[in-house]
Amino acid sequence: MNGIPEEPADLLISTRDLDRRAGELAHEMSQELRACVRPPVLVGVLKGSTLFLADLLRRFDIEVEVDFISISSYSQAGGSSGVVRIVKDLESDMAGRDVVIVEDIVDTGLTLNYLRRSLSERAPASLRAVTLLDKAARRIVPVELEYSGFEIPDVFVVGYGLDFQGLYRNVPEILAVKDIAKLANDPMLLVDRLFLEK
Ligand code: 5GP
Repeated sequence: MNGIPEEPADLLISTRDLDRRAGELAHEMSQELRACVRPPVLVGVLKGSTLFLADLLRRFDIEVEVDFISISSYSQAGGSSGVVRIVKDLESDMAGRDVVIVEDIVDTGLTLNYLRRSLSERAPASLRAVTLLDKAARRIVPVELEYSGFEIPDVFVVGYGLDFQGLYRNVPEILAVKDIAKLANDPMLLVDRLFLEK
């Protein structure tokens, strides 16, 4: 014991690495989607993907459109239950469009699997998915993932759009929570460390 309180979360991915990876992915996708007849549509999955989507968007060097979908995944601590329903649907018609689903994290794969099925029923010209984070070891259903930012271990993460009970989306980097039960007991635990001490 050295008297210094243990940090409740570790830095997993820095803002610098997030920034660099978003640039690489946007570049790769721009190359592949350049030949599309109409601008591709990036479908942001609310709310976790918003920061990632914004960072991708500003780095695309082709014209793209943006739409949003919001789903409720009846989450359990540390992940989703797999029961998914759309709570806010897309505004535009996806028929004949080249669509890219933009996810924050793919964990069991149930949510993305549901989204892919739902969007493919709308007759898009093509359907792809990009996720910032991939917890591949936790996959329950195999799901196609054309682009992925970082594969991460089985840890609960917050920041850069990802929340815990609505908190921490505005943390600029990705943090790995050390003790999810402790955070569940005291959801503001990281707030004091991250913001009040600055
Ligand atoms: P899946 O359906 O792939 O199991 O889970 C996808 C959803 O679970 C994500 O969109 C996210 O809402 C939630 N989720 C899974 N792992 C994490 C995590 O480590 N941190 C946060 N904040 N959400 C997670």
